[in-house]
Amino acid sequence: MQELGTDLVLICSNVSPVALGGIDRAAADFRELGERAARRGIRVGYEALAWGRYVNDHRDAWEVVRRADHPNVGLILDSFHTLARKIDVGSIRAIPRDKIFFVQLADAPLIDMELLYWSRHYRNMPGEGDLAVTDFTRAVAATGYDGYFSLEIFNDQFRAGSPRQIAQDGHRALVYLGDQVRRREPDARLDLADMPDRAVAEGVAFIEFAADDESAAAIVTLLRAMGFRRVARHRSKSVDLYQQGDIRIVINTESAGLAGATFNIHGATAYAVGLKVGNAQDAVARATGLGAEAFVQSPGRGEAAMPAVFGPGGGVLYFLDESAPLAGIWQDEFIPVDDAEANVPAGLTRIDHIAQTVEYNELPTAVLFYTALIAVEKTPVFDVIDPAGLVRSQVVASGDGALRITLNGAENRRTLAGHFIAENFGAAIQHLAFETPDIFRTAAALVRNGFAPLRISHNYYDDIEARFGLDGDFADRLREANLLYDRDEFGEYFQLYSPVYGEGFFFEIVERRGYRGYGAPNAIFRIAAQKRHLRPEGMPRA
Ligand code: MG
Ligand code: MG
Repeated sequence: MQELGTDLVLICSNVSPVALGGIDRAAADFRELGERAARRGIRVGYEALAWGRYVNDHRDAWEVVRRADHPNVGLILDSFHTLARKIDVGSIRAIPRDKIFFVQLADAPLIDMELLYWSRHYRNMPGEGDLAVTDFTRAVAATGYDGYFSLEIFNDQFRAGSPRQIAQDGHRALVYLGDQVRRREPDARLDLADMPDRAVAEGVAFIEFAADDESAAAIVTLLRAMGFRRVARHRSKSVDLYQQGDIRIVINTESAGLAGATFNIHGATAYAVGLKVGNAQDAVARATGLGAEAFVQSPGRGEAAMPAVFGPGGGVLYFLDESAPLAGIWQDEFIPVDDAEANVPAGLTRIDHIAQTVEYNELPTAVLFYTALIAVEKTPVFDVIDPAGLVRSQVVASGDGALRITLNGAENRRTLAGHFIAENFGAAIQHLAFETPDIFRTAAALVRNGFAPLRISHNYYDDIEARFGLDGDFADRLREANLLYDRDEFGEYFQLYSPVYGEGFFFEIVERRGYRGYGAPNAIFRIAAQKRHLRPEGMPRA
């Protein structure tokens, strides 16, 4: 240590079966250790492991340090050990700041398992898990602590992951955590640049597809069958705007720029999301403060530069607000057109959710990106059953539902999600769910428009009839319209799916009657039906 020029030794509480207990014995040992350390010019910090034999609580470790009463002996705090044992973090606030020598941070998903195994394999970055790391760090900051915060993360995926991505996530997690702490603890001594608060999502302003003429025609056929109408064309670019209710779909067939490059790499894909926020410039400032890369495309003559950043998976997140010239972008840069081929509208009103598929090990990256940037909350990870394997899913959503993004982490290539990202060469939006206030009317309108819904197997309806005790006539109506049904303690949910397009993209139409979930129990039936629609050579059999 002296050769390396370091001055702090970390000592964990003992786990040996032959360890002796006794707080005064430990304090006496530490006092002697402090004496020896002082002669060498080093300090000693003591950390309570959650599974320590006698000391497994930072309050006991602090009592040892307090009784040792030596300037070279201090306390080491680790959020995992404190939070895993549900120890009150308020107890940290009473510790003198000069006795806290070092602070380690880690989060973890809430899993009921043995502490040591949980700690060694499932720790993750602050904000990626379910522990109250912010409250822990607030308590530390309230003492006036101005030392280092260290990420101590043991995680199997991180070991196997991209060091660059892990480092970016770690930096982002610390900046986000520090920003939250700074806002609530005025006495916090954090060396952190100011940044705007998390952007409040007011809604999805548009979704943009990159396509060529041929794939655009296929997407447009589907959109028209769902009642979308081409309402405008860009003044100077090969970009069309389709709309229904508050849903705007932009089809970009430019061969130049990011859309062209995206099409060349991924094929036709929904690669950009326009988000309506309070202040678009602030949103970009926060994103870049969190280490995101700004996307700057030089605007054409008389065009507004729309503030944007690259999101997880390489797609683009645009920000729109009510300020000029962003507020007038559809009027200023697009020319209205009459759509002679349009069908009657089908009652779709807004985007209910956006479903993005990523590699399984990128799921925490994506969740952290959205939660750090936008005022959304995340759900715990839940499993979506695909006949060929598990897909891990997590939702980030604003409290009012203005923005809901379901994130699917695909672990194997034989799942629909895994196939999609393999064939798409990377993460992207895999489905868009539109909301209707009356799904039976919408379903009837779609049939008149020539829309062929995803056909759901008949035994599904026998199953839900029994599972929910549905009225037979009602179940028949669901079956005739190929609707999926779910229910939670808040209400009912109805889902209608398009067939899959290309390598796994699809549309969904939903009606929520108070329901708050996403129809996860229906996924296995839906996915089985979708796989039958994929081209035969495209999908290996489960
Ligand atoms: Mg530790
Ligand atoms: Mg969905």
